[in-house]
Amino acid sequence: MSAGAFIEVVSEAQLHQRVQQLGAEITADYEGEEPVFVGVLKGSMVFLADLVRQVDLTAEVDFLALTRFGKEGRVNIAMDTEVSLAGRHVVVVEDIVDTGLTLTTLRRLLEARGVASVRTVALLDKATRRIVDVPIEYRGFEVGDEFLLGYGLDWSGTYRNLRSLWAVMDVAVLTGDPLAFAVTAYGSSARAADSGQ
Ligand code: 5GP
Repeated sequence: MSAGAFIEVVSEAQLHQRVQQLGAEITADYEGEEPVFVGVLKGSMVFLADLVRQVDLTAEVDFLALTRFGKEGRVNIAMDTEVSLAGRHVVVVEDIVDTGLTLTTLRRLLEARGVASVRTVALLDKATRRIVDVPIEYRGFEVGDEFLLGYGLDWSGTYRNLRSLWAVMDVAVLTGDPLAFAVTAYGSSARAADSGQ
């Protein structure tokens, strides 16, 4: 493994502290309301679970899943919310905003449903990669353009369960030797699991 191929960019303690702050902000801003938190699956699930427990309001939690297609980043709703969003104060919970295409389309789709309001809380903002300007009312951290993993974010479906957030500085190293990353991030139990022991 080449040194520095993977770096822990946000620790568990830093994530916890920032999520607490975001929860306090949302609690203050929605005082007297009963918002619906809508998590965009699957990347937001860890963040959402931590965030909603820092919000001291009566609130609902629901999810939707999107499929992306085309180079323009168009999205369809693949799985819709159970709760009707018409007339509700909706807080979209996103893991990361990159080009902004997904969030722009999603906000339009939600606004077309006659929501009372829609705001976004995004844990991570890759601001330098933005193609379309989209409002992010609550943002956890601004990050660079490295590929990020952990705390809900995946690499081909895996690593979502890492407790902290990692940047992959050299994607070729991860592709060539995924076990090296697993051992760095999870510890030696990852090696035992890989060898079937
Ligand atoms: P956008 O439409 O803003 O370009 O795409 C946002 C989506 O891209 C996120 O919800 C996430 O699924 C994916 N994404 C963007 N950057 C990263 C990253 O660094 N790591 C992972 N795992 N997913 C990312």
